[in-house]
Amino acid sequence: MADRVAVIGAGQMGNGIAHTFAQSGFPVTMIDVSTDALERGMETIGRNLDRQVRKGTIDADARAATMARITTASELEGLADAALVVEAATESRKIKLAIFGDLDRIALPTAILASNTSSISITEIAAATGRPEQVIGMHFMNPVPVMQLVEVIRGIATSDETTARVMELARAVGKTPVEVADYPGFVANRILMPMINEAIFCLMEGVGSAESIDTVMKLGMNHPMGPLALADFIGLDTCLAILEVLHEGLGDPKYRPCPLLRKYVAAGWYGRKSGRGFHDYTN
Ligand code: NAD
Repeated sequence: MADRVAVIGAGQMGNGIAHTFAQSGFPVTMIDVSTDALERGMETIGRNLDRQVRKGTIDADARAATMARITTASELEGLADAALVVEAATESRKIKLAIFGDLDRIALPTAILASNTSSISITEIAAATGRPEQVIGMHFMNPVPVMQLVEVIRGIATSDETTARVMELARAVGKTPVEVADYPGFVANRILMPMINEAIFCLMEGVGSAESIDTVMKLGMNHPMGPLALADFIGLDTCLAILEVLHEGLGDPKYRPCPLLRKYVAAGWYGRKSGRGFHDYTN
């Protein structure tokens, strides 16, 4: 049997990562502090697998086997036998450093501890453990079961062995890993977030409506989604957290988060997950 994988966080990324490993034959434990999030996460996995069955990409037996490989837990103790831990909890330095301190205590001494963080320093996360050579960034894209890329981020102390194993595991779940170095936002969000932020400035300054900004980028640049719809999809709280890391970590005012983004997050308008962001999802 394949090695057990533990996924921390059952939100949009965590449940997608659990789904992806389970579908490729890995037994998975999905852990969240919120039992509601665990329930919703399992429902989402079930719905996404149903869609795959309808499309004919998997059959009903594969669906049932995938679901049967996933167990849930609300305590980190649930990961004691995992060979790989992928942390996908809220994008907060404080939360992640606390989780990695606990992981170091609870996980097998041989376990690889990966973070799905969008922007936070892997070197800093690794320093919260006594095994920084076994800590790495494994940055999946949203929606995880569909998107091809995994950005693999080496912290300053990450070993060649850990990197090679994580590249191999990403390929084993059908993804294409790309290795990058540990700088704020890595490559994906270093490039994506300034574009999203600029789109929000355009909205704030009345250069265009949300509809027109998204249409310009879809039809004019052939982007599959407009930047404001994409921000809603990622989560505006997550976008703000990433921009704060870029701004602070690179020290350049060009990364300052747009005040309108701050206002939406302060209002609890997080995008799709809360029903309202730059677009309305209540229907
Ligand atoms: P989310 O808000 O959907 O889910 C986060 C989950 O973490 C919640 O269910 C919450 O209950 C749980 N959580 C919080 N503290 C915890 C703890 N101490 N232990 C266990 N669970 C805890 O967020 P998300 O969009 O799934 O993002 C998760 C991570 O993935 C973040 O680091 C984010 O930057 C990264 N990421 C997000 C995207 C995206 O498009 N949303 C893409 C790539 C990476």
